[in-house]
Amino acid sequence: MSVGQIVNLLKMKVRIVPAMEVGKNYMYLLIDQASKTAAAIDPVVPNKIEEAAAEEKVKITHLLTTHHHADHSAGNERMSKLFPGLEIVGGDDRIPAMTKKVGNGDIFNLGNLKVTCLHTPCHTKGHICYFVSSDSSVEKGENVVFTGDTLFSGGCGHFFEGTPDQMYRALIEVLGSLPDETKVFVGHEYTVNNLKYAAHVEPNNKKIAEKLLWAQKLQAEDKFTMPSSIGEEKLINPFMRVREERLKKYTNETDPIKVMGKLRQMKNEFKL
Ligand SMILES: [Zn+2]
Repeated sequence: MSVGQIVNLLKMKVRIVPAMEVGKNYMYLLIDQASKTAAAIDPVVPNKIEEAAAEEKVKITHLLTTHHHADHSAGNERMSKLFPGLEIVGGDDRIPAMTKKVGNGDIFNLGNLKVTCLHTPCHTKGHICYFVSSDSSVEKGENVVFTGDTLFSGGCGHFFEGTPDQMYRALIEVLGSLPDETKVFVGHEYTVNNLKYAAHVEPNNKKIAEKLLWAQKLQAEDKFTMPSSIGEEKLINPFMRVREERLKKYTNETDPIKVMGKLRQMKNEFKL
């Protein structure tokens, strides 16, 4: 039986590989179809990624770490031994076995694909989202983004090492300015619970209600809710909707950055 679920685009392919034993985590294998080279994203269970790569007959040349938390980076040491010469990319000195430290706007190639690093501090100080395009012109390319624990479908990560204005910048200014059709692959399968909260915030939002039903059906079938898209998140994710009147009313704040902070605090206290 093959490992995970496959999302086939024309020039790239993404294997979604769950690592459920460590908390509904997603690992990903991103493949450049033409060169058969691949990157492993947050491969916390290396043997599953190794198996997926063998099935795809691809060579893993890069490991992309979104952030230093162990449920994302604890596989790095083992990966460096399994794949000699592996480039281990990250934006934080706390990431194990890192060989290439990147910052905001840094670009490198994976075969024919272009990877752009987006520094999105807040969940952790060195958090990086990886935006991948199949063409040097983003408008012409197939685009995907790996968002780690910054953006979840219908929600966002805890502000462990940052402030509401940093999450505002990450979600609204950085990720929110990517093309709407960009496919989004997040760090954890929290979609159903996130959307239950979103439905509480916006009871009259039909898109949220529809997506919640869809996500519950998939969850019951043991399937994944990835990928989402930037355009869809703008419609259903309260943390990407902090400028909307309804969100201001819900939080009793007018400044979108204050809405962001209050919304996070209210979600932390929300009982499902
Ligand atoms: Zn984390």
